[in-house]
Amino acid sequence: MNRTYYGKLIFELSKPGRVGYSLPRCEFEGYSLSQLGAMSLRQTETVLPECDELTVVRHYTNMSNNNFGVDTGFYPLGSCTMKYNPKLNEELCQLPGFNIHPMTPAKYAQGSLKLYDEVQKTLAEIAGLSRFTLNPYAGAHGELTGLMVIRQYHISRGDTARTKIIVPDSAHGTNPASAAVCGLQIVEVKSLADGTVDVEALKPLLGPDIAGMMMTNPNTLGLFETKIPEIARLVHECGGLMYYDGANLNPMLGVCRPGDMGFDVMHINLHKTFSTPHGGGGPGSGPVGVRKGLEQFLPNPQVDKLTSKQVDKLDGEQSKKLVNSSTCQLVNYTLSCKEEALGYISFFLGNFGIIIRAYAYLLSLGKENIPLAGKLSVLNANYIKESLRSHYKLPIDTVCKHEFVFDGLREEYGGDHHDPAHVTTLDVAKRLLDYGFHAPTIYFPLLFHEALMIEPTETESKDTLDDFIAVMKRIAEEAKADPQLLKTAPHDTPVRRMDDVKAVKEPKFTFKAL
Ligand SMILES: *Cc1c(COP(=O)(O)O)cnc(C)c1O
Repeated sequence: MNRTYYGKLIFELSKPGRVGYSLPRCEFEGYSLSQLGAMSLRQTETVLPECDELTVVRHYTNMSNNNFGVDTGFYPLGSCTMKYNPKLNEELCQLPGFNIHPMTPAKYAQGSLKLYDEVQKTLAEIAGLSRFTLNPYAGAHGELTGLMVIRQYHISRGDTARTKIIVPDSAHGTNPASAAVCGLQIVEVKSLADGTVDVEALKPLLGPDIAGMMMTNPNTLGLFETKIPEIARLVHECGGLMYYDGANLNPMLGVCRPGDMGFDVMHINLHKTFSTPHGGGGPGSGPVGVRKGLEQFLPNPQVDKLTSKQVDKLDGEQSKKLVNSSTCQLVNYTLSCKEEALGYISFFLGNFGIIIRAYAYLLSLGKENIPLAGKLSVLNANYIKESLRSHYKLPIDTVCKHEFVFDGLREEYGGDHHDPAHVTTLDVAKRLLDYGFHAPTIYFPLLFHEALMIEPTETESKDTLDDFIAVMKRIAEEAKADPQLLKTAPHDTPVRRMDDVKAVKEPKFTFKAL
């Protein structure tokens, strides 16, 4: 594998006076730097590497080769739905018509508004809810937006005592975090030994101070929460609303709908379920949907399609004004701010490029193929689970949905928790890197000591799954024969094993020249 250029960092390649550019001669003769004022001038020399152009190109190209992504290898990161990002989507979102300024008046952005409207309507149909906003930037941002909708709903009814939200102990960390940011107090509800929410433990928590309950389905163990209708009834009876964390919507696509189960508000991660890129802090999108009666609280701005009656009603002068001068098409889509809405939670209409990609994905699959994505993701997860249970501990032995959790290696492969020298999930994850696979999610959910959470998604071929299974078995055999090999892994990556504690406590984000 290529490391940095000849194993050196760019600062080490630097030679004083070497340049990789030539600038045109300054055209502003007689203009003195002192005219800029002291404030605008650097007081100290910059410390930048001095290199020729080819050295810089090789440096960055070799650095980029050290990256791991869905396009370079299998990425079974549980809870993240690292499915393939079709390249067609990338092409479509770059169509020149979409290259418009965010402040373009609605009458000149009819195509983009139509796309927004169609995505919000399609998501509403998939979710079984009334209306969506596509404005939030990510899943966690969607959670916050959705919880703000719930809070707004209670406040609008003069019910200000509902300051608590119920969150299961298996919840993704963003759930309690979003609730806290929203100013809600978190009440935890326990799970049963089978991994689903304990309804009996929930009952005593319900009361007039409960704003609602957050649930993920399938939950973070990849298990379908079968008691949702009963839970929804109990929460509604006490006056609360049901929030659905839709990050795990993938396996339910086209098969069942959160709205039909009794959820009132939810978010979707376009960068998970709908194949848009994610990771590395890049742009995501967390559309939020609500059931009928809550639409008015969604954030501004809102996109609406005018009915033909509304279009007819526009008087002559107004409709003339609304005619898009370049296409002579009448305006059908409006962008407006509603009084009861939350206000803005993002700039304009969110990460619009991501919404275009999701639209392309929806159209390429079509209504008839969308359910296939969910079903195949479930099949793939169960295939891996059943193939590896001989080597890894399966704490919850049931049919899973799109992902599942192992609790480390089985005892006979060195995974005995009681032995202080046991081979850990971290060791297995690090060894996987040597074989060119991204590690699964580890030590989440927190319900087990050695959690190893695997989500293959539907976009992987059987050959890739078989390769992964073979490698996971081989690692188990290695753990038995030579535990040290795993304890010192990875051996073949550009960077060896990190000091996890130091990486958190003393992160170094910049290279400092000596
Ligand atoms: C990914 C995820 C989130 C958070 O989504 P982001 O887009 O990463 O903010 C929330 N809940 C679950 C279950 C998730 O898997």
